[in-house]
Formats: sequence, C-alpha cells, structure tokens
Amino acid sequence: MTELAYLIQTTPMVDTHEHLNNEAVFVSSGPDILNSVFDHYLVSDLVSAGASTDAINALRDQTNPDIQARFEGVRPAWEACVHTGYGEASRWVARELFGIEHITGEALAQAAPRALAQHQPGERLRMLREVARLDHVQVDDFVTSVERDESGPEFFRYDISWMSQSCGDLSFKDIHALTGISVTSIRSLRTAFEIAYAKYAALAVATKTQHAYQRTLQWQKRTDTAAEDVLLRLLRGAPVSPEQRLCLGDWCLEQGVRLSAQHDLPVKIHCGYYAGNAPMPLDYVHASHLSPLIDAYPTCRFVLMHTAYPFGGEVIALAKHYPNVYADLCWAWSIDPRSTGEFVRTFIHTAPANKLFVFGGDSFWPHAACAYAWQARTGLTRVLQAEIADGELNEAAAAALARRFMFENQQAVFRPLS
Ligand SMILES: [Zn+2]
Repeated sequence: MTELAYLIQTTPMVDTHEHLNNEAVFVSSGPDILNSVFDHYLVSDLVSAGASTDAINALRDQTNPDIQARFEGVRPAWEACVHTGYGEASRWVARELFGIEHITGEALAQAAPRALAQHQPGERLRMLREVARLDHVQVDDFVTSVERDESGPEFFRYDISWMSQSCGDLSFKDIHALTGISVTSIRSLRTAFEIAYAKYAALAVATKTQHAYQRTLQWQKRTDTAAEDVLLRLLRGAPVSPEQRLCLGDWCLEQGVRLSAQHDLPVKIHCGYYAGNAPMPLDYVHASHLSPLIDAYPTCRFVLMHTAYPFGGEVIALAKHYPNVYADLCWAWSIDPRSTGEFVRTFIHTAPANKLFVFGGDSFWPHAACAYAWQARTGLTRVLQAEIADGELNEAAAAALARRFMFENQQAVFRPLS
C-alpha cells in the first residue's frame, strides 16, 4: 500500500449525508442478511434489470426465513448488476461483513444468523466508527425537528428537513405542534418558521431539502402577497394549481435559506439523479436552476449534492463561481464510480480545493454506509494516484487534497454542535 493509500484508508472521514434508521429501529428490526447485502439502491438496479415486483417484495420480506428462495427470484437480475456501483457495494458487504466471497443462495443462507446477531445496542455506532472509520455522520431523518441522539450525541448529527416546505406542502397541524403557532396569514407562517429555527438550529448541523423529487429546482423570488394568496387557498381548502404551489414553495424555501444563514447553518440541496425507478424528469434537477437563489443569499452556504448527476459540470461551475457554493459527492460514488472519479480530477484543476466534500453514503443501514465509505476511499485513492502518475500532483499535494476533501473542508463549513 502506498503512503497516500494508507493515509486515505486511515483518516477519519466526515459523512455529510445519511438517512440512517435510528438505534431503536436497528435493534428491534434491523436488516436480515438479504436486506444487509442488497440495500435499497441495489434493489432499484434489480428493478431496472427486469426483476418483477413479486420477486423484489419477496427479497425484502424479512418474515420469510427461506433465504435461498428469496434470493433465487432476483438472481438473474443480480447477475446483471454485479458490476454497477451498487453491485460492487453489495459484494463488499457480503465479503467484508459476512465472509461471503461469492454470492449464492446457499452462502447467504449460511450467513443469515450473523446478520441477525448484529442487532445489538451500540453495534450501529461501532460499524460506522470502526469499520467505515467515520468522524461523524450527518443524518436527514426527514423531519424538521431535531433532537439529541443519545446513541451517539456527538457522532450522529441531524439536518433540519425543509423538503415539504420547499414543495409548498404544508401541514398546519404539524406546524402548530412544532411551534405553537396557528397559521392564519403569511406573517404568522413566517413567525412559525422563525420559532422552528430558534428551537432547533442549535441542535442541527444543516438544513436539507430534496424538493427536486417533487418539483423543479428552478426558483424565483415571490412576494408575500403572492405567497399569501396561495396560503389562504390552502387554509380554506380551495384547489391549488401546481404553479401556485411552486409559488408558495419558493417563498418557504427562501425563508429556510434566510433563517439558515441567520443561524449559521449550511443549506444542503439534492440535485440530479433520483433514487427509485421512475419518474426521472431530468429537466427538474439541474443545479444551475438554483443560481437566482444563490445570488439572492450570498451569506448562506449552499451545499449542492450528488454531483447533480449526470450534470456534474454545472456543480463544478457553481462551486468555482460562487464563494458560498460547495460540491458534495454524497451518493455519487455508488451511482457512478467512474464519472465521480473524473469529477474529482476535473474539480482539482477547476475549482478551489476548499469547496469539495468527498463522502456521504445516503443509506438507511450501516452496512451500506460502510460499503459506500470504502468505495469513496478507493475512488479517491485511485484518482489521486492517477494525478501523481500523470505528473499533475506530487505525493505531498495529493495527501493535502485528501485531508481537505475527507475532513478539513467539512470542518470549516459545518459548525460543531452547540
Ligand atoms: Zn438522501
């Protein structure tokens, strides 16, 4: 192993994005062997490869102890996915966490008891800290509220989810429960958002929104009057058109950005490729749609996620152009390991070195997070060694970049929990 490879293998890495199930869920209903090896992203590849809904449902059905039969239904699809990024991660989990060199129904069935034995308190944290060698993880658990996680208060840090607000999809009951405010006007909605940030910002690591799953990332400034018109329709149960909902969503997203800047929280935005299997409206997901919002809030730090796959060049352009834009490779290595490597090489010679975060797993179980962390380290090693081989970097410069991308850049952008 080269010195550089050793450094990348052993440096604790910041994980900027996961959706990890919490400790109680892991202990009570953690994944069996099949759900450990074939995580939800791989399942999407299996569907694309032609696996039937029945076969997928059977694969995921933890109440059925017949591991071999459950695997057999997806085996032809699995054989088509062995070499995808997700497939590579599945093979890593099988090999490194369960000692399975070659994935067969029989080998999986034999390893089944080992998977069940993992569902112990503290095991989730141990895997992430000792196997994935993560410094800490940043979790989007899909809710606006943030609580201290007693299973690892420093290790598990949480985002304020701003997804539904950014879609203009408001639950007035939830807003009241969180803030005590009965929304009756745009002014009271603004007050409710201010109370939510006053309550949760100190416990949170960032604001996170993946509204690109439901609407275009295109954003425009909306007046209080225009947003209030839509809000009042919602309050009286009148129909709201998609365009009207976009208007309210834009207004709410702006409030989240404004309050994040005020509370010193970066705003993470899903850009690019969708998880799952349809729809995939590529015109919704361009990072470049966000530039009016970035222009409007120069004091907010924007973290653009997933290389906006497959439109990585837009993210590099934005990170190069704006002092307040950062590129985050979360989920990118497993979607497309090759182009993510090219993204890093292009980034090094295009945008400032303090603007890139190398890893987030975007997974629900620690097994996948460990595999994706290994992929990120392997990918980073490969691209930096290629840079050295091509005479673009010397060893010391490559090592300095590795430390930045894995740890130092994140430390500079995400403040410690207060
Ligand atoms: Zn995610």
